[in-house]
Amino acid sequence: MIDEVIKEINRADTILVAGHIMPDGDDVSSICSLVMGLEKYGKKVIGAIDDEIPGYLEELPILKEKIRDFDCVKNTPADLIIIVDASSPDRVGRIQELFEYKRIVVIDHHATNLNFGHVNWVDATSASTAQLVFKLNQKLGVKYDEELATINLLGVATDTGFFKYSNTNAQVFEDVSKLVSFGGNISYITNAILENKPIENVLLFKDVIENLKFKKDKKIAYTYVSLDMLKKYNILPKNTPPFVGDLRSLKGVEVAIVFNEHEKNVFHTSMRSKKYFDVSEVALHFGGGGHVRAAGFSKESDNIEKLMEEVTDYIAEKMEK
Ligand code: AMP
Ligand code: MN
Ligand code: MN
Repeated sequence: MIDEVIKEINRADTILVAGHIMPDGDDVSSICSLVMGLEKYGKKVIGAIDDEIPGYLEELPILKEKIRDFDCVKNTPADLIIIVDASSPDRVGRIQELFEYKRIVVIDHHATNLNFGHVNWVDATSASTAQLVFKLNQKLGVKYDEELATINLLGVATDTGFFKYSNTNAQVFEDVSKLVSFGGNISYITNAILENKPIENVLLFKDVIENLKFKKDKKIAYTYVSLDMLKKYNILPKNTPPFVGDLRSLKGVEVAIVFNEHEKNVFHTSMRSKKYFDVSEVALHFGGGGHVRAAGFSKESDNIEKLMEEVTDYIAEKMEK
């Protein structure tokens, strides 16, 4: 499939590289690394996300330089759109409006990918999309410098939880080893992302813990973050901290869920599992997607308690089977 992707790249003059809404580290890393790689390969290329980049990624200024918003790219005469780290077309937001009459290539690692491109390179065994981009750049003969290696490393680091999640396989360490030898700087990334927590996040965490509930002998832990709670600490919805990882880390918890209100009465539901439960199936059931150990969906509700019970009852029932 990688050869099909390269054929599409060689046929195109101008390329748009797009990522998903509610961007994460792997998404921005994949876009930025592919944009930089294709620039070095001699293409006219622009990166885009139809959403704001969260504050914790703003520490990496190269991202702002390489990734534009929708208004900036909507009139770009790209003949090829490469979509990275997105499992379905709705995940790219309004960038979907640009699909007509263009070739679409999808590069992704979600098992739930709908293969919505003309060419789909989907490898669910890859811990991150950033590693697929690394493979592609190398195959194109792109020379890695410190800046490119570091930004490419970002996606591998964040999607593996800094090299500790169950997706952290030998390929991760092989790729990371190469990226570090090319000048990739892990401590620059860890400092920017992990050692930079706003104090407001910790204050909000106190309120989040007050709303914490359990089900199934405390195997399911769940809570929510409302717009009012964010407002209390002056936190923007795009900067909602990823508390779901904190819940999963609790002893005995198999499934952790945080319902994050990001628009009035619209909840992005973030799910994580520890050892055996498949949360991607739950995400698919509720109209989202993701991986076995990390998945999500968005749902409208004017009653958060009811939504939480609906989702956790569904999970509790699945656990019994
Ligand atoms: P999150 O909990 O937002 O960090 O997402 C966990 C994983 O699920 C990531 O791989 C996301 O790409 C995926 N995911 C989250 N929300 C959705 C959605 N609405 N549709 C498809 N995939 C999603
Ligand atoms: Mn992602
Ligand atoms: Mn990813």
